[in-house]
Amino acid sequence: MDTLTPKLQAALDDIREAGLYKAEREILGRQGPQVATPAGEALNFCANNYLGLAGHPGPAEAAKAALDKWGFGMSSVRFICGTQDQHRDLEREIAAFLGTDDAILFSSCFDANGGIFEALFTPADAIISDELNHASLIDGIRLCKAARYRYRNADLEDLRAQLIAARQAGAEQVIIVTDGVFSMDGSYAPLEGICDLAEEFEALVMVDDSHATGFVGEGGRGTPELFGVQDRVDILSGTLGKALGGASGGYIAAGQAVVDMLRQKARPYLFSNTLAPAVVAGSREALRLAATADDLRAQLREMAALFRSRMTEAGFEILPGSHPIHAVMFPGEDGARQAGAIASRMLELGVYVTAFSFPVVPNGKARIRVQLSAAHSADDVEACVAAFIQAREDVG
Ligand SMILES: *Cc1c(COP(=O)(O)O)cnc(C)c1O
Repeated sequence: MDTLTPKLQAALDDIREAGLYKAEREILGRQGPQVATPAGEALNFCANNYLGLAGHPGPAEAAKAALDKWGFGMSSVRFICGTQDQHRDLEREIAAFLGTDDAILFSSCFDANGGIFEALFTPADAIISDELNHASLIDGIRLCKAARYRYRNADLEDLRAQLIAARQAGAEQVIIVTDGVFSMDGSYAPLEGICDLAEEFEALVMVDDSHATGFVGEGGRGTPELFGVQDRVDILSGTLGKALGGASGGYIAAGQAVVDMLRQKARPYLFSNTLAPAVVAGSREALRLAATADDLRAQLREMAALFRSRMTEAGFEILPGSHPIHAVMFPGEDGARQAGAIASRMLELGVYVTAFSFPVVPNGKARIRVQLSAAHSADDVEACVAAFIQAREDVG
């Protein structure tokens, strides 16, 4: 007897009534700075397409060619008969780019983060996690029996307190886990201070650099490069689903023993297929492009700076920073309504941005998140700012 459906329907009604129902907007073509929607063309400022490689011909052509050479699927997990030489090539290329011994692919970064902790840590160990870490880190840490500690976002004083607590409790291994970039704010983790504390307390450091690899840092090697701590971070996780072509896939890049142990024990690796052959080939090409994309990184920085200065001139409040994620704030009681109404009006004006309010962000801190891409032109950025100004007038 189906007792579930009525319960779900009531819960779905509650979600709708609270204004939290997530409706998907369909895009009628490829991802890019301009997308076709059922409501018409729109300039797109909410993809994680930081280098513009999602719609770039390079990865797409490499993937097309790969279908002929490598076929469509693997029909096997890695350790049985699901590893092509190109899977290992991609892993070695990721490791070479990031400067680690080796890397291991997962079908997503969610799986990489979901599988790593249980495979490496025991109840004798401690995991110390930033409170704003990505859901996949939170879930992965929950699946592991190590002691758990949480510190306030980017707060080194609180991190020190948690490290003291973990050491006093007698933890064997201690690992500090943080996102490199906090995606709702566009802010960086204070990696230098984190690495200093890790040294003081003999802890490991893991950084999830999903919103950084490929475009943050002079050579695109992410937040460790930006902060000059590349050889002080022990474990990196990241995604192929954002700047690096944007298809799908994730990885852990780390020392040889960590990678080897994950191949033996990480459950999402052992019990799930890895990337499809065409995605591997396209992602290799995306990584190759990203590795030499100083021009795209410069363009991205320029567009981000242009957006920040124009919006500030127009009197909007943007959380401070230099990452291409911009949190345009609508504080106070009416903020959530304002942000939602402005984003809707902007879509009518042909500019696609997303509003976030409680519970995705703290109460009273509603915002519209704007993400710049190297594929945006200065005209695109000016059009986005003009739409913000127009929508603010129209919405009041
Ligand atoms: C997007 C993201 C992920 C998930 O990546 P997928 O490869 O899409 O699963 C994990 N961690 C962080 C910090 C992210 O931003």
